[in-house]
Amino acid sequence: MFLMDSLIRRCARGVPDEAAVVARAEGIDPAQMARAITAGRVAIPANSKRQHRLCAIGEGCRVKVNVNIGTSGTRCDPALEVKKAKAALNNGADSLMDLSTGGNLVAIRKKILSLDTTVGTVPVYEAVRRAGSAADVDADLLFKVIREHCRQGVDFLTLHCGVNREALAALRADPRLMGVVSRGGVFHCAMMVQRGEENPLFSEYDYLLEILSEYGVTISLGDGMRPGCLQDAEKRAKSVEYVTLGGLAKRALVAGVQRMIEGPGHMPLDQVAYNVRMIKEITDHAPLYLLGPIVTDIAPGYDHVVSTIGGAVACMHGADFLCMVSPSEHLALPLVEDIVEGTRVTKIAAHIGDTVRRPEGYRMEREVQMADARRRLDWAEQFRLALYGEHAKKIHCRDGDMETCSMCGDLCAVKMIRELFEGNGEKN
Ligand code: SF4
Repeated sequence: MFLMDSLIRRCARGVPDEAAVVARAEGIDPAQMARAITAGRVAIPANSKRQHRLCAIGEGCRVKVNVNIGTSGTRCDPALEVKKAKAALNNGADSLMDLSTGGNLVAIRKKILSLDTTVGTVPVYEAVRRAGSAADVDADLLFKVIREHCRQGVDFLTLHCGVNREALAALRADPRLMGVVSRGGVFHCAMMVQRGEENPLFSEYDYLLEILSEYGVTISLGDGMRPGCLQDAEKRAKSVEYVTLGGLAKRALVAGVQRMIEGPGHMPLDQVAYNVRMIKEITDHAPLYLLGPIVTDIAPGYDHVVSTIGGAVACMHGADFLCMVSPSEHLALPLVEDIVEGTRVTKIAAHIGDTVRRPEGYRMEREVQMADARRRLDWAEQFRLALYGEHAKKIHCRDGDMETCSMCGDLCAVKMIRELFEGNGEKN
């Protein structure tokens, strides 16, 4: 039934090149990396039809950052989307998702796929565009679009297989203030309600896996029932979907298809750890891909900061892959500067997660080096070590070139304690 000798199966027999390459980049023993891939705890999304810089996502790996770009029906400027994609990569993004819904979708995707990075898409968006409305999307069209994305070279697909009739019943039985905020989730709800049929991605899941397997494409099991506000975080639909995703994740692994799980949406900060751990347990520790979490709903314009707080806590408890949230989240399609700002703060959240997940080795070493450079008031070294050194330099230099900085000026504590101890031959 499955044509490709999948990465999972090759890892079960030894250490294929892909596993060796990412193991080196992550500082992980290659055999251990191969075992993690076999167990479905690490994924390397990589379509067999396209070569690009590989990126490992999951247990033991550095937290990765995805950036969403793409046109909409309201604003469609493909050249600008490519510019945003490049800006994201230049600022440290590990992957891109093309979520375009306006213009020539195939041509836009082709441009994004020409970049040297992991690329994901959400095929149901295109299916709805082609059909004209969600209710007019049938199984044939949806599977056709999925196959086309695979054939074009997309590495991972977000597929909302867990938005099934059971999740819909849970949504109705325990209504939410915001209903459903996932675009893919809403499309599948509309298809089920108006066509009176089960979600084909759920009812024909084996066929779906067969298509993905043929191209070595990773399934990212979408969180179509993620809560859209803090108030909805404890409602039932989300948990019903989690349980379904757990079963589907297991079936993907058995079929040799790499899997990731998406979650968990808007929720209070004190629920993040519990949700991350629950998803990890239910899905047998599949790589966890998060948008947010958004931990307050009242800071539009600063949702990138909000999700950085949620994201850092989520990474600390096991999230592996963060989706960038930009300052324009909930407000507008992002501009290039929104993408830059969003990517940078999400990278910071990922790094904070790494300092807890992988305190050993070079990640912690850089923290120590920075502290030492600060102690020595070595500004050049501080800018070299900083995640975004040019930005830091610009701020420092606005008051001129000085030994300390203008924050405390001649009352610089760092300088005084150094002189106090080192002047006496002591070490502080
Ligand atoms: S002046 Fe103040 S803020 Fe600046 S380096 Fe010295 S102690 Fe730190």
